[in-house]
Amino acid sequence: MEVLKQRILQEGVVMSDQVLKLDGLLNHQIDPALTMEMGREFAARFRESGVTRVITVESSGIPVAFAAAHELGVPLVFARRKKTLLADPDAYCERVPSFTKGIVTDIMVSREYIHENDRILFIDDIIANGDAARGVIKIIERSGAELVGFGVVVEKCFQAGARTIREQGIPVEALVRIRSLNDGTVQFDDNEL
Ligand code: 5GP
Repeated sequence: MEVLKQRILQEGVVMSDQVLKLDGLLNHQIDPALTMEMGREFAARFRESGVTRVITVESSGIPVAFAAAHELGVPLVFARRKKTLLADPDAYCERVPSFTKGIVTDIMVSREYIHENDRILFIDDIIANGDAARGVIKIIERSGAELVGFGVVVEKCFQAGARTIREQGIPVEALVRIRSLNDGTVQFDDNEL
């Protein structure tokens, strides 16, 4: 997605060879028009998959997942990161290490909002090692629903997450693929998968 590449070049901050700060676009400030465009792009890529629900993880996945769900005309469910006192005691729960926070968090989805006859599109902001995604995928598997695909705004190709998910046979669509962040520069990978 060309417009997104340009925005990443203008507003992204390379923090290290591993981490790209995208607070201006994804993780702190949201551009509603750009986010709706990303949602339309995901919807176009998965329109034929018979999606009945979109799922994401709070908080940075929510805006773009909302945009995709709105475009597809289906509900959006977001996995919550912490158990609250109001949480359903038999919700699906998985423990995932957090790439940016360096801690482990629990994500949970109530059984009320994911059913075995669902066809789920999973949308997230950025994939690195894939720990967060693997947690969500396990929850979908446990529910008996079908995961029809995974749409991610930014795939960092030099980390293994997206590759391992593709190897599981899950269709993965990235709006932008980053090959390297070496020497403080963002290098995109334009190879079609
Ligand atoms: P993973 O579980 O795939 O290792 O990491 C995924 C999560 O960590 C993403 O949802 C994202 O919020 C955060 N993350 C991973 N790498 C980066 C990065 O380079 N920049 C930012 N801003 N967040 C990242």
